[in-house]
Amino acid sequence: MLGIDLGATKVVSGLVAPDGTIVHHSGRHLHANDGPGGVIRSLVRSARACLDEAAAPPKAIGVAVAAQVDPRTGTVVHAPNLGWRDVPLARRIAAELGGTVYVVNDARAAAFAEWRLGAGKGVDDVFCLTLGTGVGGSAVVGGRLLEGGTHALGEVGHMTIVVGGRRCHCPNWGCLEAYVGGWAIAERAQEAVRLDAAAGTALVQRAGRVEAITAQTVFLAHRTGDALAGRLVRDTERYLADGVVGIVNAFNPSLLIVGGGLVAGMPTFLPVIESAIRARCQPSAAGARVVRARLGEDAALVGAAEMARAPARPR
Ligand SMILES: [Zn+2]
Repeated sequence: MLGIDLGATKVVSGLVAPDGTIVHHSGRHLHANDGPGGVIRSLVRSARACLDEAAAPPKAIGVAVAAQVDPRTGTVVHAPNLGWRDVPLARRIAAELGGTVYVVNDARAAAFAEWRLGAGKGVDDVFCLTLGTGVGGSAVVGGRLLEGGTHALGEVGHMTIVVGGRRCHCPNWGCLEAYVGGWAIAERAQEAVRLDAAAGTALVQRAGRVEAITAQTVFLAHRTGDALAGRLVRDTERYLADGVVGIVNAFNPSLLIVGGGLVAGMPTFLPVIESAIRARCQPSAAGARVVRARLGEDAALVGAAEMARAPARPR
């Protein structure tokens, strides 16, 4: 099966074996301002480089895109990073490569891979929480990946955890993401440094200037024992715990899988959210286990290929 991961700056294709192993890989850098025509040409070239290595042409191709998509029609509804609206991606790829093309949101595809082949294998009720620049989620309930009316189910980063709280990048205030998203950790750190320059010395030294402080700056300073960075990480874990209690009460997963680029920077977050679940969730839901995601950066590519193959994919 062929899986393709179309991001804002690169496209990666891979031949994926039934166990999720990538047999052959091919990547290309993209320029979003090439428009859909140029980007799709790069995608097709990357896919052909893999197909040349395939023993037989795959019956279906799965494409994960960092975008709002309609998986039933294969249309990219809105891809802000690519500047696309209503691009019939499945149809245009099928015209070049043949076969059936299945298009899915990249976070959804990664969650599908984690459920079918990674940390959630064999479990029917799973919630995958992704902590990166943004915060998102995907729910598997009764062995079925939920999609929602406009395929946007699981936007748990945008549930309010602080009434009248911080401005989010979405139209709401006080969202979970506005506290624990990568951009929000950076914002909170910069504010804390402006309030107390002495406490922020290590962060500013590391970043060069206040505006350049990122979540990674905070995590690295925390590792060396910086007090302000430590406070920021502990606060982040507490906000995260507040959000997770709501998620577990709402979706009642047996297993909560937490992944994304921020996870490595917060070494103690797992026990913090696990104890919050035990102490503060409804007793009926409080037994949920918490684990780290197992698949790495190829999860979306593998998930897209797996969804193209699997009869259990959402429709
Ligand atoms: Zn929001």
